[in-house]
Amino acid sequence: MSRTRLNEFDVVIVGGGVLGLVMGCLLLTRKLCISGRVAIVTDQPAAAPPLDTDWDLRVFAMSRASERLLKLCGIWNSLPQARVSAYERMCVWDGAGRPRGAGSLTFDCAQIGEPNLGHIIEGRALQWQCLQSARAAGVVLIEGAAASVALGDENVTLELKDGRELRSELLVAADGTESTTRQLLEIGTAGHAYHQDALVGHVKTEKPHENTAWQRFLSTGPLAFLPLGDGRSSIVWSVARDQASHLRAIDPERFGQALTEASGGVLGRCELATTLASFPLKLQYALDYARPRAVLLGDAAHVVHPLAGQGLNLGLLDCAALAQVLGDAQGAAHFGDYRHLRRYERWRRSENLVAAAALDGLERLFSNSEPKIAALRAAGLSAVERMPFMKRRFAQRALGLSGDVPEILKTI
Ligand SMILES: Cc1cc2nc3c(=O)[nH]c(=O)nc-3n(C[C@H](O)[C@H](O)[C@H](O)COP(=O)(O)OP(=O)(O)OC[C@H]3O[C@@H](n4cnc5c(N)ncnc54)[C@H](O)[C@@H]3O)c2cc1C
Repeated sequence: MSRTRLNEFDVVIVGGGVLGLVMGCLLLTRKLCISGRVAIVTDQPAAAPPLDTDWDLRVFAMSRASERLLKLCGIWNSLPQARVSAYERMCVWDGAGRPRGAGSLTFDCAQIGEPNLGHIIEGRALQWQCLQSARAAGVVLIEGAAASVALGDENVTLELKDGRELRSELLVAADGTESTTRQLLEIGTAGHAYHQDALVGHVKTEKPHENTAWQRFLSTGPLAFLPLGDGRSSIVWSVARDQASHLRAIDPERFGQALTEASGGVLGRCELATTLASFPLKLQYALDYARPRAVLLGDAAHVVHPLAGQGLNLGLLDCAALAQVLGDAQGAAHFGDYRHLRRYERWRRSENLVAAAALDGLERLFSNSEPKIAALRAAGLSAVERMPFMKRRFAQRALGLSGDVPEILKTI
């Protein structure tokens, strides 16, 4: 197809997921661009969520840092309250231990002086509200898919599959795990597959969830129950591929029995209330986050195990960090300058690698069924349970409030 139009922007973002949209909002609402022209290229624009239907199967546990960033972008307060639920406690326990007993660890927001430990938010509602806010901020939405990238000294040109060309000072790749843009930039990745699928669905439970996120670490993989506002819980059950196929194939009643057993009966009998979705799991990290005039963020840069519900939260920290770096670069001739982007790369790559390694280590530690390791693990959990200082540190990290936190998230 012929090249039909040349469009000029300050920043072109590839990927209209939550992170691409939030980045677009931040650039415009914080007036980080020289001429205020930001485009988001997406191959799948978000659709309006039908609120009279059931919750979307995708839900996200969102940290305090993420809440603050979404507030800054005007997204948080517009989320439909029926699709947001705060959780106040978290209980994790070893497969061989007991919830709130030996070999378990409990976090309570009251013990750390916080109103809650985070929120569970419906993915579809979040995505839609991000889109509304990006539109309101003035982002130009372009439906299309990336085909080629040409990095120049003064600008970068993105060619779409239909031949359109977009030129900008900076290109942001927010196009997810399989990021085409990352590949076009010839940035390699490392990591490994977990050979597990995460099964996701909503369940009714015999006992109330008590606004608590429950997680049992089994040697076959972690099983989490995230409390929803309507009394149900959303499960994320990570199991080996063949077990996942089996669990998807059995009837809902047998699935409920298997789930009740795997949960150790913590919430009594479980009943599957929806269909199941399944996601292959891997650890993946991009070898570089930046090229002259281009950066990666979110899953395009790092993919972590969902056992702590951190992927999107880490990506939102990427957005805040990039906004800070670009803000600091304002007044420079070109804010897409490689030196600034390298600062973002050093900052976020080190933070994300620490998080990815910690989550990978936890997954390995808890999937090891060697009796000595299991005993050590249970003793470790019980020991941390008796150390309020350590628990507070862990909770602050999970809330996204410790580590090298971007300035814009400290001041609200
Ligand atoms: C089972 C499971 C549970 C999880 N739970 C949590 C949780 O509780 N909390 C949390 O923080 N994280 C969680 N995560 C992680 C989270 O889902 C991801 O980190 C997050 O969705 C990544 O967002 P993203 O915007 O980078 O990518 P995506 O959400 O994948 O968005 C990428 C966007 O780019 C578009 N796109 C792709 N290719 C192109 C192209 N070539 N051209 C144009 N557009 C393109 C796509 O259509 C999409 O809109 C979970 C993950 C899994 C698997």
